[in-house]
Amino acid sequence: MPAHIPVDLSNCDKEPIHIPGQIQSHGFLIVIDQDCVIRYHSDNISSFINGINENLIGRHVNDIQPLIGRNEPKDFIVQLIIFGKNNRGFEQTNPFVTDIQGKPFYLIISPTENYYLLEFEPAASDLTIDLQKIIGRSVSEMLADKNLQRLLENSARQVKQIINYDRVMIYRFAEDGHGEVVAEAKNENLGSWLGLHYPASDIPKQARELYKHNLTRLIADVHAIPAKILTAADNEQPLNLTPSQLRAVSPIHIQYLKNMEVGSSFSISLIYKTELWGLIACHNYSPRFIDFKSRESSKLIGQILSSALEFRQNEENQQQTQTFKAAVDQLSKYLLKSFSIEDALTKQEVTILDAVDAEGAVLVYENSIIKLGSTPNDEQLEKLLAWINGTLGESFHFTNHLASVYPEAAAYQDVASGLMISVLSREMNEYVLWFKPERIQTIKWAGNPDKPVELNANGLMMISPRNSFEEWIETVSGTSIYWSNEEIKSASRLREEITYAINQKAGAIRQLNEKLKLAYEELDTFSFTISHDLKNPLSTIKSYSQILSRNGNLEPKAQQIMDRIIVGADKMNLMINEVLGYSRLGRSEIQLSKIEMRPIIDDLIRDLLIAYNSPDIEINIGDTPDIYGDPVMINQVFANLISNAIKYSIPSGHPKVSIKGEVTETGVIYNISDNGIGIDIQYLPKVFELFNRMDNARDIEGSGVGLSIVKRIIDKHKGKIWVDSELNKGSTFYVEFFNG
Ligand code: ADP
Repeated sequence: MPAHIPVDLSNCDKEPIHIPGQIQSHGFLIVIDQDCVIRYHSDNISSFINGINENLIGRHVNDIQPLIGRNEPKDFIVQLIIFGKNNRGFEQTNPFVTDIQGKPFYLIISPTENYYLLEFEPAASDLTIDLQKIIGRSVSEMLADKNLQRLLENSARQVKQIINYDRVMIYRFAEDGHGEVVAEAKNENLGSWLGLHYPASDIPKQARELYKHNLTRLIADVHAIPAKILTAADNEQPLNLTPSQLRAVSPIHIQYLKNMEVGSSFSISLIYKTELWGLIACHNYSPRFIDFKSRESSKLIGQILSSALEFRQNEENQQQTQTFKAAVDQLSKYLLKSFSIEDALTKQEVTILDAVDAEGAVLVYENSIIKLGSTPNDEQLEKLLAWINGTLGESFHFTNHLASVYPEAAAYQDVASGLMISVLSREMNEYVLWFKPERIQTIKWAGNPDKPVELNANGLMMISPRNSFEEWIETVSGTSIYWSNEEIKSASRLREEITYAINQKAGAIRQLNEKLKLAYEELDTFSFTISHDLKNPLSTIKSYSQILSRNGNLEPKAQQIMDRIIVGADKMNLMINEVLGYSRLGRSEIQLSKIEMRPIIDDLIRDLLIAYNSPDIEINIGDTPDIYGDPVMINQVFANLISNAIKYSIPSGHPKVSIKGEVTETGVIYNISDNGIGIDIQYLPKVFELFNRMDNARDIEGSGVGLSIVKRIIDKHKGKIWVDSELNKGSTFYVEFFNG
């Protein structure tokens, strides 16, 4: 038993198989540069042409004309190259039939980087039938059935009939690069490989690329020794054989075919929308050569099958696409109509669950998590989301084996083996998630796919392809059905729709905000100008009333009226000044600094006691901690609050006012309390509104602006203000300033 040593075969992905330095020996190669000078050639030319000089490097191609084209003009290769250049390719002249020492040969010319490959191969095929004749009939039989599976089976049968290899398989690549035999036609004595899977490393990535480039590939004799490519000693540039017909096979692949006991292999690429969908893979257990023309005819079969496949596959996908499209269309209508993104996506008849073929979906949006269908539970989701937030950077992810990247998901793989994540906002951690349940499947591998390393006869470890192709059954759990291209497209289209709707709504809110700001500024400007403009006519009223009243010849009644006009005008002037002050505040920027409070409070009290002419008020000043704020504005705050406290406590008979501050963990709270008229509890919420005066304050002078100014200033300082009060007992106003 060879030891099982896990070795990563992905190295095969790096093998430069397009520059092997060798060709298969059933033909020979001459490489010329733009001046038709020979730069490379294979070392097996003499086995096709008797008497040719072994070293042709540096010679003009015309020099060898008599040997490679006896009946052709001397410069026929030069002419072919000119023709190819003018026609941007050699499709029209390939293959050029020529004669080498009495035997028919095909010359196939292909351009590569700076050179032209001239490949010569025998024109005789091992095929006895004329492909072109039977191809038409085969194609109509191939296409006879509408069903995709039967189309593939027919094709395998027809290809087997045409090229008569021992086994013809149709091999389909899965998303992860591994392949499955989906149809087969074979000789009766052979065991069936239908349904067997082949690991992705069997046909590495760069080999799949070459299959897209060269639509047919012949390995005529697995056991033949390849011919080396010679060049000048100082030429170190490896020759790119991508377009070559004769390109030698990688030693690993040759070993692989030998292990399968295959003598010759021929494959025709099946392309679906520019991608390699699969291969018609043909094996013969003895060497077998198919000439260029027959290979071209087989290529035609591949192309016809490819387009039939595309058509059938399109039909099958189309229905799914239609269903998803209808769902996303409906969702985007909901999104436009509804103000709530959550409602639009999860609460209507069609939901995000309908946008793909999933059993569960979760919308994570604006701090809410909405689940639909079968999903992991809340706790599992929370952890999964934390993992997503911390791990995934891209905007879109999907896996059909969640536990392989996030092992905790193994606990709920029955509902969430497949996960698709569409990121709505990376910053806000908002997503749509879809879940697919576990699909327990049995895969029949051709040999153990995890066993690429064997020990050779000497006991040395070597990387070699598997040599056992016995059916090896693996039960795969923890995986879901793949996310199809249709689902991925649908999910990403939905993402577009959602982000568009979110932006629209955010835009609408921003616009409203802007409008509000504008209206607010307009109002400020309006009250400022109107107050300002009122001042002039008002002073006119006052001046003329004073003139009239000073004249002294007014009747007592008229004199009384005149006095009231003057008092009214003074009052109005006061109010206008207050309003002006209030609107000025809206425009002014605050200038923060540390304010020592005690001197400010002392000054204010001294002035206020004089203004209210009430020396018997009892005033207590407690701690007066410093405040960080705008000195002018803070002065206004305390002036208003202390003035109110004095003003509204005078009627109590023994007015008492106290002012004290307290340092807290977050800043400073000042309270200003009095034993005055108090405020009715039902009016308390309105006390900071502009022009609001309480009923019990009617007889006391005031404008109803002071507290609005205080509130505005406190807001500007990002502080807080609130009030406690009881009617006829007194009020306490609190102002809180925060540090920093
Ligand atoms: P005013 O110029 O009327 O004092 P304010 O905006 O300063 O305007 O106050 C609004 C109203 O709140 C006052 O009219 C009064 O009804 C009430 N108020 C304010 N402070 C006190 C207080 N310390 N005691 C009782 N009522 C008060």
